[in-house]
Amino acid sequence: MLGQIAEDGFPVTGDPSQADVIIVNTCGFIESAAQESVDEILSLAEFKKSGHCRRLIVTGCLPERYREALAGSLPEVDMFLGTGAYQQIAEALHRPNSNTRCLLPSPDGLPLQHCGTGRTLTTASFAYLKVSEGCDRHCTYCIIPKLRGKLRSRTPEDVAMEARKLISMNFKEIVIIGQDTGAYGRDLRPPVPLSRLLADVADISKDIRVRFLYGSPDTTDETLIRTVADHDNICVYFDIPMQHAAPLVLKRMGRNYNAGDLLRLVEHIRSVIPDAALRTTMMVGFPGETDKDFNELMKFAETVRFDHLGAFIYSDADDLPSHRLSNHVPKKIAKERHHALMSAQAGWSEGKNQKYIGRTFRVLVEEQVEEGLYAGRTWFQAPEVDGIVYIDAQDRKNAFRVSEFADIRITDALEYDLRGVTA
Ligand code: SF4
Repeated sequence: MLGQIAEDGFPVTGDPSQADVIIVNTCGFIESAAQESVDEILSLAEFKKSGHCRRLIVTGCLPERYREALAGSLPEVDMFLGTGAYQQIAEALHRPNSNTRCLLPSPDGLPLQHCGTGRTLTTASFAYLKVSEGCDRHCTYCIIPKLRGKLRSRTPEDVAMEARKLISMNFKEIVIIGQDTGAYGRDLRPPVPLSRLLADVADISKDIRVRFLYGSPDTTDETLIRTVADHDNICVYFDIPMQHAAPLVLKRMGRNYNAGDLLRLVEHIRSVIPDAALRTTMMVGFPGETDKDFNELMKFAETVRFDHLGAFIYSDADDLPSHRLSNHVPKKIAKERHHALMSAQAGWSEGKNQKYIGRTFRVLVEEQVEEGLYAGRTWFQAPEVDGIVYIDAQDRKNAFRVSEFADIRITDALEYDLRGVTA
């Protein structure tokens, strides 16, 4: 959207008090995200009274999910664009007096972005590269397939072309994403595996690194693991949302594997790549989750000791198949389980971080926090979700360049972050 706005000549400001039009791009995935989106919309609507703002436009998953009902409850908003309408943002800016308040076409009909799509990047050293849209699975707790449509993949040639463009713009880490990245290419004829795409992008330049996020247990196959192992510049980082380990919960979630499959997968990854970093997402409080199920989940997480684990509390809504399942877990119990899992993970994570002390890693320097202090990331830290490395540069003021790699020796470990100095 930013790319299209810029191409149409509209200047962009991050300061809402200066904006003539305010666009709020929303998430509607879980209740807390939807609430946060609504709070943000209401708070930005104030600029219609106190600032320059003449129009407020809301885009993304929240209007896609709640449609006209949302429009009815937010009279402050002038226009709603669903996920299938994001390419109409410039048009929406051009016709301020249009009578159409809701643009909610099916996301399935949306042409995919391609290497010629204008982009305005808001990140400095890394760039997300979206390789597919949509998801063909049916996890019972998830609204994403409804909001983003069926799986549609870009061709590997088109993705590689965009990667070249990003590399020429000095982005040093290309982060491959989709809603179900692991399933990339299954819809292409002939199908193209994610491993081939990763290899194609990694082979463009040895001076960058490639990372992929949002795999799944069934798509993390031998070829993918070997491709990661064989390329020095693909991060040995496996982000595999597992959601649970208890068999009945997984079955009710519509996830087609069990704890044994997961343990075998983890062991295999670690046998091929002993240093591999593992991230997962777990959900607690899913309908029917008993104390015994939760204990199985805790035991599983303790056995694996993920480098990074994010836990979510099940978020109920009546448009989800899981809503109709029996034995919903009281919020209080779900919160207690969430706290127990995240507290345990904090300890495991710190223990993992302690082991890095004294070792040297290639860090992508991303920001000068203050004079003599920088922040960056290693291959085992994904942007925005994992910890970072604080780099102490007291003796070498301004010695690091943002968007460059530096060899950093780790000197201290915090719960999630690390500290280091030049090696
Ligand atoms: S694979 Fe991920 S995006 Fe697809 S339905 Fe399941 S949770 Fe949702």
